[in-house]
Order: sequence, then C-alpha cells, then structure tokens
Amino acid sequence: MSTTTTRTTIKHFINGAETVGEGDRTQPVYNPATGAISAELRLANRADLDATVAAARAAADSWGDFSLAKRTNVLFKFRELVAAHVDDLAELITAEHGKVLSDAKGEIGRGLEVIEFACGIPQLLKGDYSDQVSTGIDVFSFREPLGVVAGITPFNFPVMVPLWMAPMAIAAGNAFILKPSERDPSPSMLLAKLWKQAGLPDGVFQVLHGDKETVDGLLTHPDVDGISFVGSTPIAKYVHETATAHGKRVQALGGAKNHAIVMPDADLDNAADHLAAAAFGSAGERCMAISVAVAVGDAADLLVKKVEERALAIKVDNGTAAGAEMGPVITPASKERIVKIVTEAQTAGAAMVVDGRDLVVPGHEDGFWVGPTVIDHVKTEMTAYTEEIFGPVLVVVRVEDLDAGIALINANPYGNGTAIFTSSGANARKFQRSVTVGMIGINVPLPVPVAYHSFGGWKASLFGDKHIYGPEGVSFYTRGKVVTSRWPEPTHASGASYNFPSS
Ligand code: NAD
Repeated sequence: MSTTTTRTTIKHFINGAETVGEGDRTQPVYNPATGAISAELRLANRADLDATVAAARAAADSWGDFSLAKRTNVLFKFRELVAAHVDDLAELITAEHGKVLSDAKGEIGRGLEVIEFACGIPQLLKGDYSDQVSTGIDVFSFREPLGVVAGITPFNFPVMVPLWMAPMAIAAGNAFILKPSERDPSPSMLLAKLWKQAGLPDGVFQVLHGDKETVDGLLTHPDVDGISFVGSTPIAKYVHETATAHGKRVQALGGAKNHAIVMPDADLDNAADHLAAAAFGSAGERCMAISVAVAVGDAADLLVKKVEERALAIKVDNGTAAGAEMGPVITPASKERIVKIVTEAQTAGAAMVVDGRDLVVPGHEDGFWVGPTVIDHVKTEMTAYTEEIFGPVLVVVRVEDLDAGIALINANPYGNGTAIFTSSGANARKFQRSVTVGMIGINVPLPVPVAYHSFGGWKASLFGDKHIYGPEGVSFYTRGKVVTSRWPEPTHASGASYNFPSS
C-alpha cells in the first residue's frame, strides 16, 4: 500500500474553533480508490470529551432561549451555504469514502431536504391549547429542547446522516455534538465551518473525532441528554442499551438486509435496471441497498439474465473519473470480508452469475476494489443470505409465489427497507400490508422517505421507538410540557407601542 509524504491532520471542532485537542492517539484516513493514506485523524481523549460537553452544555442553555425567528435565520443561511458548497463537500466525500461524485452530490441533496424541513421549525413546534377546560382554567402544551445531544454516524453517508440529525436537533434548540465515522471525517469539518459562517453560536455544533472510547464517553456522560446513532446492528444495540442505562433518550438505527420481490407480472427490464442500481450504487454500501432479489416463479431466469447484463456493463473506477458509476469499498478489511462471504456461497453450491472478486482497476491497483457480483440460487442458510454483506453483491433467492416471498422477508431479523416490482395493485397492496419492514417501495427500489416523513426500520434495524428526521425527529429532540393555568382578571394593561410588532 502506498503512502503520501505530506499528511494533513484532521482536528476536532470544539467551541467554535478547530483544535488538535489533548488526545495523542491518531488514526490514518485512506483514499479507498488509491489505497493511499490521505490524512491523520486526531482521536479525542477524556479531557477533549469533557471540554466538548461543557461547551455544549453552556451553548445549549443560551441557544435554547433564542427566539424561533433567530434560530430559523441561522438555518436558512446554513441551507444556502451547504447548497453553495455541494461541489466541495462532494469532493471530500469521494476522497475518503470512494463513492462517485454524482452519488456524493445525491446524498448532499437528501441532507439539504432535511435542512429545509428544519427551517419550518416554528410551525413544527406549535403547541396545543384547550380553552376553558374548567371554569377559568386553560390547558396548553408545548415542547422544549432536550439540551445536549450527540450524533454518532456511520461511514457510508458522511454528509447525509449527520444532516438527518443536526439541523433537526439545532432547530429544536439543542446543542449537537457530532462523532463522525473515523473513516471519512473531513466532510463534517466543512459542515462545522458552514454552521459557524451561518451565524450559529460557538458550541452549538461541534465535531469530536474518536473511536469506541469517545462513543462510550458520550453514552455515559452525565451532561449528555440524548443520543442519535446510525450504524451497524451490534453497535446500535450496544449504544441503545448503554445510553438508556445511563438515563438518556436514544434512537439507534442499525443494519439491513433489504429484499426486493420481483413478480412475473413486473416489467422485468425496469426491475433489472432498478435492482442493479440499488444493489451496486455506492458499491452496495447503503443501508437501503437492495441486497436480496426475491425472484418469483417464472420471473427468475429472465430476470437474472437481465441483471447480469447490467452488472457487467457498470463502469467501476475512481469516483472522480468521468463516467464512473461505482467506486471502491471502504477498507481492505471490508473487501476481504465481502470476498470471503461470496466464496462461502460458491462453495456451498450457489451459482456465480457475475464475479467481481478479482477486479483490478488499471492505474489504481492498490485501491479497495470489488466488482459488481450476482449470485443465484442462494439458500437462506448461506452466509451470503444471513449476513449484511455491505458491498456490491446481489444475491438471488427463488421462491414459488408472493406469499413465500413475504414469509421470507418477515422471517429475516432485519426490517429496514423492502420493495416489490409488480404491475398488480392487488399484489402491491397485499405486500405493503403484510411485510414487517419500516420502509416499503412499490416499484421504487430505495424508498428513503422524503424529509417531511420520518426514516426508520423495524426489528434489528432500529432500537428505540422514534424514527429519524421528519415529525418523529422533532419529537425525539424535544420533550413536552403541559400547563394547566388559572389567572385572576387583569387589573391593568401595558406594553403598547405605535411600532409594527417584530420578533
Ligand atoms: P459501525 O457500526 O461500524 O460504526 C458506526 C459508528 O459507531 C461509527 O461512528 C463508529 O466510530 C462507532 N463504533 C464502531 N464500533 C464501535 C464500538 N465497538 N463501540 C462504540 N462505537 C463504535 O458502522 P459503519 O461500518 O460505519 O456503517 C455501516 C453500517 O451502518 C451498516 O451496517 C449499515 O447498514 C448501517 N447503516 C444504517 C443506516 C440506517 O439508517 N439504518 C444508515 C446508514 C448505515
């Protein structure tokens, strides 16, 4: 593996400024397309954590008191700044994650939608009022910020997932500490600078880099009130258990194994186009990637043929290259794991339709490459079915009918997303009402909800009861108060002015 000679140091962003902090541990950051180390990341120690939480605590107290109009002003400015820096953010994503630039811009677009939703926070925080519940008594309810919340995010969406959390938390009046993935930390630093430029007071958005040690510190810190986590299922479960045991509110989104049923009545060209895009886009490193094609009855042979054609045509290259459709996977360890699972399926008797294990990208021989891979006749006991592969691998499971496909999905421990390709409304309706999955696509392969609905799976794909962003995001980052009030008759009036009222 080659290394660069000059390495930048990626610092923390604490209380409004970049700082190396006091922790002396570091970790290399790679460009997965070249295999080169691009930077060194500082990992926080306990003193850095305590300084960050203390700054957040102080900032939360004043920011939570800012008027809705002032908070919204910052959000509108932040929205404009992120929109103006799409290219810069995308370059940072591609350099550390590896996904192609157009895909990186796509994830920023989905993040922008959440900022736009958060700009409507005055409407979202409107309370309820009941007049005259008893003689002279009124009851009203409203919501207040939690205080200090931390977001712990995965490598696969280094801008979108932080933006699922921070704009909502901050609009609701909280201070937010982001602990991004160690693998692609740079985009978070640009987000921090843009928040500051938008006028957000110091300490309201901070970035603290670290690994398990930092995460554990956040989960147990007495001054952290809430935790939003997105990542793999074992860590999501651990985060939920640990942070709730320490009295925190937690939403922890986990891994996935998303199935797409293809009915014989579906337009198979359309289904194959979408399956290939949903399985191989971002090298399959999406929690909503379709990783299992459930081919029903007669659809199977023709569908597999059509998916094969598409998989073979995908242009795999450095994400910065013109025309690249798929980039590398995130680490050598990830590549090794993916190759191992594919080999196990082959050994267990599955049929290799397209084999991407030995892909070499000329000029990028040290990159972490796995080509699009399609495996047919996969059985449910194979690791290719039981494990979340998180790579560009589509497994095909053949079933007799729709009921068998639904039973397969419902027996799977994950419940993040699923889709059906069909031309029958009756099939689609039966599917949407029967599956034990949180997000469902009807002829839509990646049913990631728009920002004004909330995102969340079922079963091992989410621990906690609140989905992320949208109305449930507002609810997660606030807590309710109900006031029962009785007032004597007023004796005087004051505060009149000839000026037009303003906030
Ligand atoms: P990961 O679980 O390894 O890491 C996520 C975060 O947890 C990182 O910030 C990491 O530093 C931290 N972490 C890792 N190990 C830890 C430990 N032992 N203790 C405490 N903290 C730890 O996940 P990843 O590999 O970065 O991301 C891929 C996973 O995320 C996949 O499983 C994918 O399905 C999932 N994901 C889920 C969603 C969703 O919305 N459900 C969205 C994106 C990604």
